[in-house]
Amino acid sequence: MVTGELNKGPEQLSEEVIGPGWCVACGACVELCPYIKAADDRVAVVQACSLESGNCYAVCPRTFTDYNDLAFKISSSEAAEMTPALGSFEEILQARSLLPEIRDKGQNGGVVSALMTAALEEGLVDAALLTASDGFYPRYTLARSKMEVLAAAGSKYGVYPGLAGLNRSLAVASENVAVVGRPCQVVALRKLQHYSSVRGRENLALVLGLFCFWGLDYRFYEDLRKHYQASRIGRCEIPKDRGLTLETDRGEIIFSLEETRAYVRRGCHSCADPTSELADLSIGSTESDPAWCTLLVRTRTGLSLLQKALSSKLIEVRSFPTEARKALEEAALDKKERVFKGRENDIPPVNNSYLKLTDQYRVQLAEGGGGAADD
Ligand SMILES: Cc1cc2nc3c(=O)[nH]c(=O)nc-3n(C[C@H](O)[C@H](O)[C@H](O)COP(=O)(O)OP(=O)(O)OC[C@H]3O[C@@H](n4cnc5c(N)ncnc54)[C@H](O)[C@@H]3O)c2cc1C
Ligand code: SF4
Ligand code: SF4
Repeated sequence: MVTGELNKGPEQLSEEVIGPGWCVACGACVELCPYIKAADDRVAVVQACSLESGNCYAVCPRTFTDYNDLAFKISSSEAAEMTPALGSFEEILQARSLLPEIRDKGQNGGVVSALMTAALEEGLVDAALLTASDGFYPRYTLARSKMEVLAAAGSKYGVYPGLAGLNRSLAVASENVAVVGRPCQVVALRKLQHYSSVRGRENLALVLGLFCFWGLDYRFYEDLRKHYQASRIGRCEIPKDRGLTLETDRGEIIFSLEETRAYVRRGCHSCADPTSELADLSIGSTESDPAWCTLLVRTRTGLSLLQKALSSKLIEVRSFPTEARKALEEAALDKKERVFKGRENDIPPVNNSYLKLTDQYRVQLAEGGGGAADD
């Protein structure tokens, strides 16, 4: 049920989020009703709607967001470790797929694809909302088999409103769905589950979150067409010390991280959740070894999926090196501090007004970044 600070409608969504440019194109509000549409990465309320309280406002990751409350609602364990940098989790591991065909197609060892394969093959879900590509732009797809999961493997660094695909699915079918999303999308999914009255929300069975420190808007793709005449994009990687490297029909194209920065979506500068803190399982690179992933186990649902993937020999895990954990925590904390303290000297400016921050947490950050954000 929509209550409190989230008790607003599409007009306010337009005024507070879309109009000022804070929308991160998660897609959670798109097609919830006939009035909100998306074209590429642009989201708009296309027709006036007088509803004073709407699910569109409640699910948006850039309207009022209380991480503590959401973390509490999804947590099912007292064993979880709470850290200011990475949120709450039960275990941190390195992982990769044991199947060569998944490892080869996957971005960093194919862990996400292997987990989705396990979820489908074990019958935990009927379909998985993933991000494939139409050859150039990222596009959502509902995968129902290992083959379809593999067709969507690999990172596309563009942001686009993929959760519109979930809204379509929930509206027409009563089947259990898993979603793989960026952290902003994971927040939207938890708000949908716990603060909205969206029809079919109980069918959202599993949420896998990627690490994400930035995403690119469609200006990137437009320039790739215009300046490089590229019309097909294959694998995208960010090898250490090399920049964003794309396989295209015009050969390999490399953007330095400095060049890439110019295309980062405006709303990403206000994002304080680089590791998908509200997911069942969070997955990112290891920075040191591109053939392995970092895997954070956050909920009992996530743990149970991991155990199934391990017992069906889809995945192997190893312990997480202390040094690597320190580096990951520092990177995550640095991103958060820039947002929480509003000290990003980026253009555009930082907006942190949507985040509920406690006084205690502000003090801890000011003193050097320690402590959990609890009331
Ligand atoms: C925009 C973006 C930014 C990222 N930034 C970082 C980072 O800064 N640091 C880091 O450690 N890791 C980052 N990652 C995660 C990393 O690139 C890998 O996705 C992760 O390590 C999992 O690898 P894998 O081999 O298990 O994934 P795979 O098995 O290859 O599966 C990848 C999954 O990602 C999904 N996906 C691909 N593109 C998108 C997209 N645009 N939006 C939503 N879902 C998508 C697909 O559905 C697919 O299922 C980012 C990913 C994305 C999409
Ligand atoms: S961030 Fe997501 S929910 Fe909010 S306006 Fe943009 S697409 Fe809609
Ligand atoms: S940086 Fe944050 S807002 Fe931007 S795409 Fe990644 S998770 Fe979403």
